[in-house]
Amino acid sequence: MQKIKKGDNVVVIAGKDKGKRGEILKCFPQVDKAIVKGVNLVRKAVKKSKEHPNGGLIEIEKPIHISNLMLFCPKCGKGTRVGISLEKDKKVRICKKCGNKFE
Ligand SMILES: [Zn+2]
Repeated sequence: MQKIKKGDNVVVIAGKDKGKRGEILKCFPQVDKAIVKGVNLVRKAVKKSKEHPNGGLIEIEKPIHISNLMLFCPKCGKGTRVGISLEKDKKVRICKKCGNKFE
């Protein structure tokens, strides 16, 4: 079971964006990477197109290794370690500190 998935709120715990919080926009489970909104931004030059009518430089998120991320627990108010718990034969993710269940 993946501990981090799309839509999760995570905290960056290492690298140049350490301390930033964001939402997982996309997961790449094969390589243990994820794209987090506003994290690991790089500038990219783009040509004029429908999407970018002015062309020029845009900022895009590059995937970040999930070992640099922690799930944000709203109850603890910070990044937390995630445990897996069995509930009626269904696996659920819980906060190891306070037991908060993640959707
Ligand atoms: Zn917690």
